[in-house]
Amino acid sequence: MSQAATMTEPTEETVRAEVRAWLEANWDPNLGLIEWREKLIDAGWGAPAWPKQWGGRDLPGPLAAVVDQEIRRIGAVNVARAGIRTLAAATLLAHGTDFQKGKFLRRSLTGEDAWCQLFSEPGSGSDLAGATTRAELKDGRWVINGQKVWTTSAHHADWGLLLARTDWDKPKHQGLTFFVIDMRQSGVEVHQLRQMNGHASFNQVFFTDAEVPAEHLVGEIGGGWAVATTTLMHERRGADGVGAVGAGAASTERVGRIYDEERAEVATVMEPYKWYPQRAGRVDLVLQRAKETGKINDPVVRQEIAKLLTLARSAEWTARRARAAQAQGLPQGPEGSLGKLAASNVARAAARVHTLISGADAMLAGDDGPEAGIIAEILISVPAVSIAGGTDEIQRNIIAERVLRMPKEPGDDASRPFREVPRNLAG
Ligand SMILES: Cc1cc2nc3c(=O)[nH]c(=O)nc-3n(C[C@H](O)[C@H](O)[C@H](O)COP(=O)(O)OP(=O)(O)OC[C@H]3O[C@@H](n4cnc5c(N)ncnc54)[C@H](O)[C@@H]3O)c2cc1C
Repeated sequence: MSQAATMTEPTEETVRAEVRAWLEANWDPNLGLIEWREKLIDAGWGAPAWPKQWGGRDLPGPLAAVVDQEIRRIGAVNVARAGIRTLAAATLLAHGTDFQKGKFLRRSLTGEDAWCQLFSEPGSGSDLAGATTRAELKDGRWVINGQKVWTTSAHHADWGLLLARTDWDKPKHQGLTFFVIDMRQSGVEVHQLRQMNGHASFNQVFFTDAEVPAEHLVGEIGGGWAVATTTLMHERRGADGVGAVGAGAASTERVGRIYDEERAEVATVMEPYKWYPQRAGRVDLVLQRAKETGKINDPVVRQEIAKLLTLARSAEWTARRARAAQAQGLPQGPEGSLGKLAASNVARAAARVHTLISGADAMLAGDDGPEAGIIAEILISVPAVSIAGGTDEIQRNIIAERVLRMPKEPGDDASRPFREVPRNLAG
């Protein structure tokens, strides 16, 4: 490398100094949310790890993290980072055309568009490659017919990441194609589903001759599986930001128009995820509850708490290893599936410990229940961790086959034409 190149290579010090100076000169809490984000993106600080062509600075992960630190330090608002829009951006960055990147990436950062992920169907969840929603090319446009289910946030989405079948004669993984579909059209009908915990995060989505323009096909015709795998990989890494955003951004301490707009945005995006802290088991409440109720003096309860905290701590270390690898730009290792499985184990163990502490009161919902019904909500929400983003059994299969290199599941479904594969529902 030449000396000149070495001298211009960004370092932590130069990046910190540059972003700090820019923020001090430009941060203005009186700007509108979108207006401020436009400025941040124009300066390359909105997505510093992205390529320069798409509004980034090509910075490696650790240096991009320095930019975030400085934005937080000065109390400025960052770009939109929660929800399926981040999975959409990651997927389009990897597989999108320049037209798609130009149309969608910037708006994903400003937060102007809301997205949903149209993968699961009544007959294909774990077996995602068995999707039967149909896409047919007619007069240069793709016509979509079929049904999706469990689609988080579809009720307020502008765009959807759609996996649909374009070829029934190829083996199942090879007949799928990935599209970006406009959710605000008459051929798309969204019905909210009510869950047993009272929330309504998911939807059924029905397509009746819905249309997708040819330029919204992502990747190759028949190459949808590879594109969907990218989306799922980012989802399992927690790239949807749902875990991180919750508490911090919703804080009411910061006063000003831009913060009000950000809070309103977070409230809308996070609405379907309001119960997600409970779904994770609320390990944070365990010690406090045990002390308040005096159960901390029960040796059996103490033992179970110790087991839970050990499990939670080791899961956190696994998650940190995954984040460190990601920050260094390393490919995803086994931490993704191990972490997902660990989160399920922690959530279930936490629900058990909460029950030991609260006894039968744990079943009381609403204000009458312990922690104003939070404990009851934990008990009925934790099963979702073992399902969302790939069930525990599927994670175990992935670990067995890809990490431990054990033999694949028996069966020839993946090699014969999809039309001949037995299915529950007519395709
Ligand atoms: C909170 C939450 C949010 C979600 N959000 C979305 C979303 O936004 N978009 C979207 O498209 N989907 C979403 N989903 C759907 C989710 O991806 C599916 O529920 C999941 O993939 C499981 O599919 P399924 O429900 O069809 O169960 P099935 O696939 O029918 O599985 C039923 C049972 O059989 C087991 N099983 C299936 N196959 C195997 C196998 N090969 N080996 C061993 N056991 C097996 C499963 O582990 C499970 O226990 C969400 C789900 C939840 C709970």
